[in-house]
Parts: sequence; structure tokens; C-alpha cells
Amino acid sequence: MDYKEIISSCYCGDGSAKLEKALRLAQEYGSELSRQPKINFQIEEVRAAALSLDAHMTAMEMGKTCSHCAATPGGGCCSAYMGHENNDVLQLLMNILAGVKVQLVRNDGVECCFLAEKGCLLLFKPIFCLNYLCPRIQKESGAEELRLLEQKTAALLGAQSDLEQLLIRFLQQQTF
Ligand code: SF4
Ligand code: SF4
Repeated sequence: MDYKEIISSCYCGDGSAKLEKALRLAQEYGSELSRQPKINFQIEEVRAAALSLDAHMTAMEMGKTCSHCAATPGGGCCSAYMGHENNDVLQLLMNILAGVKVQLVRNDGVECCFLAEKGCLLLFKPIFCLNYLCPRIQKESGAEELRLLEQKTAALLGAQSDLEQLLIRFLQQQTF
């Protein structure tokens, strides 16, 4: 499959269509992908960066701020639109390869289809979700906390993008 075809088929459709395609790719190529040392190494790099960012968010008590915000009318930012538009097949495939049981947890047209009871079920989140820094979090955090947040987010985005490129290169070598 050529680059253009991969991009056009992996970045369109709603959350359900993207997940279906990611599951199909995992079924077809999962065992071959799991034998690729570079891909395994990069998954662990992304995992480490994601866990480091999570730990910092916990230290900033972002969970508390977000739970409070999400409980207020019209609050929260994990909308159905985000779940459908900002995810893509390769990012969902990365989660599956990392051992996350990716599934649609809701289809209420209001909240993101990957927003589970205890928060986002994805270990590797869409770029837009990672980059989003709302005014409330900015207001309630210190300058050093925000600096570290930005640094850790950038490290994760870089690692995730490297993994995406490895997956694209792998798919380019396959015949569909
Ligand atoms: S990131 Fe901001 S808008 Fe989103 S839930 Fe947390 S506090 Fe609310
Ligand atoms: S952070 Fe997770 S639950 Fe929230 S919008 Fe992004 S993918 Fe959906």
C-alpha cells in the first residue's frame, strides 16, 4: 500500500470505523509487528513517556480539577466530536499493540466514545488531546508545573510520532 492510501484510509471515518480498521490491522499484522524489534522498542519509549506525563499530571492534581470541571453543566472537554475526529487508526493500533483493550465505551453523542468511568481508556492519546491546555488548568497551575507539563508532552508527542512513522513504513511494505 502506498503512503497516500495509508493516510487516506487511517485518518477518516468516525471512532467506530477507525477502531474497526485498527482491530483488523492488529489481527492481520499483530504477530508480525510484535516481532519487529524497532517497533517494540519504540512502543516502550512511548509507554515510558506517557507514564511520565501521567505521573506529572497526577502530581499537579489535574484529575481533581478535571473531575470537578466535568461534573459542572457543560463542563469537561472529552466530547463525542473529539472521540470521532481526533483519533486515527494508527494511534488506536499503537494502543492495541501496547496491550490496551481498546473498545467503544459509549455512543451517547455527547462524550468521547473512549471516555470510560475512570477517564480516558487510551494509553496513547490523540495529538489534539495531548496538546490541549485549557484556561482552567493554566490558571490553577504554577509556572514550573506548566513548563514541565509542556516538556513531557513534547517528549511524548515526539516518541508517538516516531512510532507512527515506523508503523507507516511497515504498512508500506505489506501487500493488501
Ligand atoms: S482539561 Fe480543562 S476543560 Fe478539560 S476537563 Fe480538565 S479542566 Fe475541564
Ligand atoms: S483524552 Fe481520551 S477520552 Fe478525552 S477526548 Fe481524548 S481520546 Fe477521548
